[in-house]
Amino acid sequence: MKLVFATNNLNKLAEVQKMLPDSIQLLSLKDINCFDEIEETETTLQGNAKLKADYITSKFGFNCFADDTGLEVESLDGKPGVYSARFAGEPSNSDNNMQKLLEDLKDKTNRKAQFRTAVALNLNNEQFIFEGTCKGEIFKKKHGEKGFGYDPIFKPEGFEVSFAEMSSEQKNKISHRGIAIDKLVNFLSNYKS
Ligand code: IMP
Repeated sequence: MKLVFATNNLNKLAEVQKMLPDSIQLLSLKDINCFDEIEETETTLQGNAKLKADYITSKFGFNCFADDTGLEVESLDGKPGVYSARFAGEPSNSDNNMQKLLEDLKDKTNRKAQFRTAVALNLNNEQFIFEGTCKGEIFKKKHGEKGFGYDPIFKPEGFEVSFAEMSSEQKNKISHRGIAIDKLVNFLSNYKS
């Protein structure tokens, strides 16, 4: 089955590709010649995931899934949340985002946070939603070089290292996106059209 993953983020594409069975042929936006900038204008993760999947299905006619992820910090009332990518302003810059978050948490003792991913799947004229969360806390400084986004400052629950100190395989097993994509993969494996 051919399925579009509505993303331009090659890190995410590679992460997800590793989790899919061979029977599912994942196509990137580039593979379908989509070079459009799909603006994430909704105020929820689920809303943005649906918006992106619907754009591809209606304009290009493919079965498609899209995801949206946010980092929700407890003592900041869930911020940056749906606005995680541009927390420190435009253009999106991970170092600036991390620096701003560390600054905002400077005087906070509660550093609990969670990543949350919503996935919207458009399959044969039906829509399905999957969610994954990964609880943890925010380190006081960066640790590690791997991964992307907020990985160097996020310590997942039950581990003493950051996401940026894990291999992508280790991270996939416990991450918000890994959990949401696992649900998607399970669903697709059992899907009868
Ligand atoms: P997106 O919706 O997946 O594009 O992610 C929104 C923001 O969250 C971006 O700034 C990403 O860098 C960040 N982000 C998403 N997933 C992860 C992750 O697995 N680790 C660290 N940061 C992430």
